[in-house]
Amino acid sequence: MPKINLLPKNVAELIAAGEVVERPASVIKELVENSIDAKATQITVEIQRGGITYIRITDNGIGIEAEDVPTAFLRHATSKIKTQNDLDSIATLGFRGEALAAVSSVSKVEMLTCSENSNEGIHYSIEGGEEKFNQPVGCPRGTTIIIRDIFYNTPARMKFLKKDVSEGNACASVVERIALSHPEIAFKLIRDGKTVLTTSGNGDTKACVYAVLGRDFSNSLVDVNDDINGIKVSGLICKPFACKATRSGQYTFLNGRLVRSGTVIAAVEQAYKNSAMVGKFPAFVLYLEIPFDTVDVNVHPAKTEVRFSDEKRIFDAVYASVKNALTVGDTRPEIKLNKAPFNPFQRVIANEYRQQAITETVTKTPAPQFKQEPVKTEVVFKSKPEFEFMNNFAVADEKGEKIEPVVTPKTNIDIVVEEEKPQVMQPIVEEKDEIIIIGEAFSTYIVAQMGDSVFMIDKHAAHERILYNKLKAEEKTEVQALLTPVTVTLSSGEYDAVINNLSTLEKSGFEVEDFGNSTVIVRGLPVFLTNEDIGNLLSEIAESLITTGKVSVAKEDNVFHTVACRAAVKAGNNISRFEMLDLAKRVLLDKEIMYCPHGRPVAFEIKKRELEKQFGRIQ
Ligand code: ADP
Ligand code: MG
Repeated sequence: MPKINLLPKNVAELIAAGEVVERPASVIKELVENSIDAKATQITVEIQRGGITYIRITDNGIGIEAEDVPTAFLRHATSKIKTQNDLDSIATLGFRGEALAAVSSVSKVEMLTCSENSNEGIHYSIEGGEEKFNQPVGCPRGTTIIIRDIFYNTPARMKFLKKDVSEGNACASVVERIALSHPEIAFKLIRDGKTVLTTSGNGDTKACVYAVLGRDFSNSLVDVNDDINGIKVSGLICKPFACKATRSGQYTFLNGRLVRSGTVIAAVEQAYKNSAMVGKFPAFVLYLEIPFDTVDVNVHPAKTEVRFSDEKRIFDAVYASVKNALTVGDTRPEIKLNKAPFNPFQRVIANEYRQQAITETVTKTPAPQFKQEPVKTEVVFKSKPEFEFMNNFAVADEKGEKIEPVVTPKTNIDIVVEEEKPQVMQPIVEEKDEIIIIGEAFSTYIVAQMGDSVFMIDKHAAHERILYNKLKAEEKTEVQALLTPVTVTLSSGEYDAVINNLSTLEKSGFEVEDFGNSTVIVRGLPVFLTNEDIGNLLSEIAESLITTGKVSVAKEDNVFHTVACRAAVKAGNNISRFEMLDLAKRVLLDKEIMYCPHGRPVAFEIKKRELEKQFGRIQ
């Protein structure tokens, strides 16, 4: 039988340290969090060789009293909580009293600190958990801590460190994230002698995001600012067209602390659904403020995963805030023209260019507001179908008169109005705007003028989006029975997908029956689809069913995408000016129609002043 020994203090500490200190970046996280807890307004982090040989953190916080300094380096020594009850309402980043003990057990630490009330500071040194010296010294208020040669006494752990550059990048990323979480603190990061990050600390979120994440990210942002059921959600989100290929641009801060929450990510992504391109992820910096007792922060200090006592409440608040922001704040992408040299010799005779434009006066409808638990109400337009290609969805009446939307209660829709609103949503006449159809470029882009802007509208993308919204709003898509039913033989995967989703297909206007042996009979198609190669269409639908997730709503969505795409007018197809006007009207007056279901923008805007600049009319 092996004998049971009590581990010596230094060995026990090394083991414990392993949980807190994994690499230089985790040291920086702990120490910067200490500075924040000490109410610092300026924090400077300096690293050399990726933080492996040298880390220095300087703050102007409250400092530590001289006699407390040695205690601060003991395990479970903390000034942040005293009793068990304090655990339920933790407002500081640290509270376990582990960081200084852990860091000092695996490196060489020096600390200079001076508290508010003392005339002089203290210079303290500890290596591998052993105190080296402790002497008074003159220094400014605040704390400087220097960590040298991390893992010098644990070569096995040293081996796990990556190259200096990787460790340095990890350190930088920690500082960036913390800087984002505290726009009110001025951060500086110096890497191998070079200042690579500075934030002003003036509390302006936008400026902070700009400083940390750079110009590209900051140019396409929408403000979020909401307070729903006691949950404050603020920050910045990217416009749908600026979504990224990875989730690397997603930052969630909960009560000032960077966290990872699957619930928050899911809520944001749900709000972008059908606006962001498939396979792209929204970038966001969101600050959530919620009562301390509704969140369980007692998770491992090195992990950022957070749990909420009421996940649904958080989901709803985040979803509604983001959706609101997208509806109100997202404007069409605007084309900024390059400054071209002005050529005074190029003459244009105005009459030659005058277009036989069709104009029509229309009114703007208000942007819908998304609030929690709204009455689910569908907006239906009273209309008569006017053009063949737009059969089933045209809202223009023949005389081009004011459109009167009527609201009928329904479930499962995407335009909702607030509960306190009356049952009928009247368009608010804010201003009258004329839409003028200038023409069409490349049989693909409708060129329209409204107010002080010219718009280029992708007619296929626009039509596709309109059809898709209609399909989504309907309880069941109208079916058009085929004169002769068609049998289609599918691959076994496709066949399975079709057979397992017959009800989804039925709701989307497909009448399909199992014929056995990988074959199905198609008896009817959604009314929009005509002269389709049915075999091809069914494979495509099956493919979209296979690639979707497990939720039935998402499957339906994908079927709608395919149907809308197939049924929409194609680039190159001829359409009349009336049809152009009708499309332009829907696109320009309906804020919901910004992106096609695949996330491509439907229209681009060129402002008049942008043209004037280009032609040298204004500076
Ligand atoms: P914790 O942060 O969990 O309390 P630490 O080991 O990180 O534990 O720190 C121990 C104590 O040392 C803290 O509670 C705090 O009182 C003090 N301390 C650490 N760093 C600083 C600092 N930069 N400024 C002021 N006090 C500090
Ligand atoms: Mg701490």
